[in-house]
Amino acid sequence: MRWSEFPKWGKWAADWAARYHAGLRERPVRAQTAPGEVAAALPAHPPETAQPMDDIIADFETIVMPGITHWQHPRFFAYFPSNATPAAVLADNLITAMAPQCMLWQTSPAATEMETRMMDWLRQAVALPAEFHGVIQDSASGATLAAVLVMRERALNWRGNAEGLTGQPRLRVYASAEVHSSVDRAIWISGIGQANLVRIPVHGPRRGMGIAALEAAIEADSKAGHLPAGIIACTGGTGTGACDDVAGACAVARRHGLFTHVDAAWAGSAMICPEFRDLWAGVEGADSVVFNPHKWLGTQFDLSAHFLRSPDDLTRTLAIQPEYLKTHGADGVINYSEWSIPLGRRFRALKLWFLIRAHGLEGLRQVIRNHVTWSRDLAERLRAAPGFEIVTEPVLSLFTFRYAPPGADPDATTEALLTRINDDGHIYLTQTRVDGRYVIRFQAGQFDCTEDDIDAAYRTITETARNLEED
Ligand SMILES: *Cc1c(COP(=O)(O)O)cnc(C)c1O
Repeated sequence: MRWSEFPKWGKWAADWAARYHAGLRERPVRAQTAPGEVAAALPAHPPETAQPMDDIIADFETIVMPGITHWQHPRFFAYFPSNATPAAVLADNLITAMAPQCMLWQTSPAATEMETRMMDWLRQAVALPAEFHGVIQDSASGATLAAVLVMRERALNWRGNAEGLTGQPRLRVYASAEVHSSVDRAIWISGIGQANLVRIPVHGPRRGMGIAALEAAIEADSKAGHLPAGIIACTGGTGTGACDDVAGACAVARRHGLFTHVDAAWAGSAMICPEFRDLWAGVEGADSVVFNPHKWLGTQFDLSAHFLRSPDDLTRTLAIQPEYLKTHGADGVINYSEWSIPLGRRFRALKLWFLIRAHGLEGLRQVIRNHVTWSRDLAERLRAAPGFEIVTEPVLSLFTFRYAPPGADPDATTEALLTRINDDGHIYLTQTRVDGRYVIRFQAGQFDCTEDDIDAAYRTITETARNLEED
């Protein structure tokens, strides 16, 4: 295909995208594909000669599309959302057409300077203090890994990268059992090791770690000759939306000279609404905060916002300057590749610029407020429905429930209900465990979701439960 043919296919793709979004409600949310079905439809060997675009597109429709789970479906209530908005998709198309590699300021000054400005817009939008500086990371996992590496280097007085961990005291990092698996992986990759991720038990309705227990664990480790390095707090954990007492965790960190990272991957977007900010009260005392506009703000994957109180600590940990990366004559500029683990970077800030201008913060707040309100309403309706139990109360737009009519095994019945709902495909839900109990998660977060979709969820859940009992 040549660039001269691009307008034709580009228009086709734009029309396709609009048709796709308009027709999403007609499709099952979760792919109804059997394992191996897509692979079986793909030729085992690559073609030696060029094939016409018409054929490629026809195969795209017949082979690929049935194997897609529709994250942009208005009745996607599983996991967390992963929103694409038309304005951000348009920005992505422009970036992709240019495909600049924005590792250094001079490799596209617009990308760097836009990133600085957009991250400051976002900082203001979620009301972090002006001392925080932001960088766009590929994922919350990448941001958390970067934060854990900073914890390690600070604790080792910046000798870890140079000397490795051999012969060092055991580094210790503290978090609750509710944090995301990306924290475990950051601990593995950083060489700190799973055994040194200290789990602090959670308590109370917010399922946050006990602050006294946190401090006791740090003191016991210091006494034992270990090296406490940092605390990872979560705001809106993945299972049930657990929220640590961020102010309490930061106060402990200050007393013991530790670095604090706050993982608000999902919930952070909601902090553009002042009324939800009590969930991370005290966040201004943290050293590092991450949230994902690619989840609940509408800048499709990937775009993770990472804020640091002291970016110097981050660049001291990650920056490396071989001769070919030095930017002669442009000192004083930011090279964002020194702030993240991959060297190469896409121009992701453009998505934020298009998004925030096209919606306005007030427009974005309204979307999130609707999700929260509708989700709370649904929790109340399910609470009143026979056999249903709300297991964890709504945190923003996430709650968990189970189905346990009298005499039934609640775990088995809830699992059977979930399987039947997802096999039907009208809505999509996923599960987690709360204190060992099997529960269904519900979260509303897709931008095109309406109150009618929530009503459809209520009907699907309760009618499927009724059918389950009749069988
Ligand atoms: C989604 C999520 C992550 C992982 O986000 P990625 O950007 O996919 O790495 C981490 N923590 C929490 C709380 C999440 O919800």
